[in-house]
Amino acid sequence: MTTEQQIIDRVSSEGRNVLTEIEAKELLKQAGISVVDTKLATSREEAISISQQLGFPVVLKIASSDVVHKSDAGGVKLGLKTTKQAGKAYDDIMKAIKKQYPEAKIQGVSVQKMARPGVEVIIGMSKDAQFGPVLMFGLGGILVEILKDVSFRIVPLVPRDAREMIKEIKGYPLLEGYRGQEPVDVANLEELILKVSNFVEQNPEVAELDLNPIFAYSDGAVAVDARVILEGG
Ligand code: ADP
Ligand code: MG
Repeated sequence: MTTEQQIIDRVSSEGRNVLTEIEAKELLKQAGISVVDTKLATSREEAISISQQLGFPVVLKIASSDVVHKSDAGGVKLGLKTTKQAGKAYDDIMKAIKKQYPEAKIQGVSVQKMARPGVEVIIGMSKDAQFGPVLMFGLGGILVEILKDVSFRIVPLVPRDAREMIKEIKGYPLLEGYRGQEPVDVANLEELILKVSNFVEQNPEVAELDLNPIFAYSDGAVAVDARVILEGG
């Protein structure tokens, strides 16, 4: 049995169909997809010691399969530079979540390094009643939320599909290095899209997937957030 399957089976056996960010990243990492190294802390002390191990600045986020939109709920604290800030962030996250989601089952807090800024892109997968799994690509932030500047292809994708879906979004010039911004490694993004397509093909239990955002650089890309939802449940 693959490690990917083990992660999926473990989540299913707990009667859940929503993976935490940590589980989703673990799963995608197994599939060769680059994600920010993310660890679970189950106490304030552990959050601080993991932060020290990883090296500041760090990010703390709520780890709960009942909280899907983490920052909306006050569950994301970015750019923490000291143990004091990390400790306070832990307390603030717990307080905010307990207030807004009194019923939520909390696994802990995820700790990860603050990734350097890049161009934010997203890759998503959802299942269409007619076409089956469909991949989406777009630029992150307001470009996707307000302008819906995204492209779609049906899984499985061939290399040409990946190339075309990147080039056909209106915001493509931003990836080529707009106004002094570093140009993005587009070939690497193509590979990333193909890896996601392959992962989706290999894991039919995955109902929905979101890498939002991925930070794209001139020398690669890394997903800082991941969401995976399984079929059923
Ligand atoms: P959610 O989408 O559940 O609200 P995210 O994990 O996407 O939470 O975090 C919200 C935002 O914080 C992201 O869109 C990204 O801009 C920023 N962010 C999250 N993780 C990191 C990280 N490791 N390094 C830098 N920025 C991050
Ligand atoms: Mg996100």
